[in-house]
Amino acid sequence: MKARRYCTTNARSGLRLRASPISGEVLDVLKNGSLLEVLDDQHWLKVRDQNGREGYISADYTEAAPPPEATAGVTANIVNFQSQGSNISGDLIRIDEDFVVFLTQIDEKLKTLELQLIVTSSLRKPDQDITNTVVEPAKSSNHFVGHALDFNLQYGGEYYNSKRITELDISQENTDDPVSDAQVKRFLNWLAKDASPLRWGGTFSTPDPIHLDDALNLNDQAAYKQKLTQLWG
Ligand SMILES: [Zn+2]
Repeated sequence: MKARRYCTTNARSGLRLRASPISGEVLDVLKNGSLLEVLDDQHWLKVRDQNGREGYISADYTEAAPPPEATAGVTANIVNFQSQGSNISGDLIRIDEDFVVFLTQIDEKLKTLELQLIVTSSLRKPDQDITNTVVEPAKSSNHFVGHALDFNLQYGGEYYNSKRITELDISQENTDDPVSDAQVKRFLNWLAKDASPLRWGGTFSTPDPIHLDDALNLNDQAAYKQKLTQLWG
């Protein structure tokens, strides 16, 4: 027969004695320093894996670890973009704080081209539970973390919605293009080629010509997932 084992509690305000692990009925609150005989030292940790799946593992097979460096300090902080004085407008532009810097770059470009960008969609809530879903780039929109915008463009009285942008041949600048077409083409070409990591949705395999994002879901998947979990659970 094994020698009996004992322990004392170390919780100043008392430690709950439960009938079963985690959330079992509270039988008593043990005073600090209570002497107890250990009957079974199996204990379970409630944990969450990198995909957001939750469950229990035995603590006997774990050791303490620091948070992964890639995601340490990553926080989603949704802000309302203050568009006063910019060439960007829209009812409520909700984006992650880390995406504001790109809107500043976009605004500078818009000003040189005398274009207005009207935001039609920014932060969006995933329409399905993300906690049990393995995040695949194709299915994980940057809208879910406030790193994407849908937009229309305007030059003077000329308005460019999805249909009109789609009708433009972006790859060709023609000498007889109206000025408004030429400026819209210049902006979209800049977005597609010279504004990395920004991307224009018109270049996607399924073209989405009124979409732009910074490819966070591809370039830093750990940060993307961390923000997604923080925002939507
Ligand atoms: Zn979009």
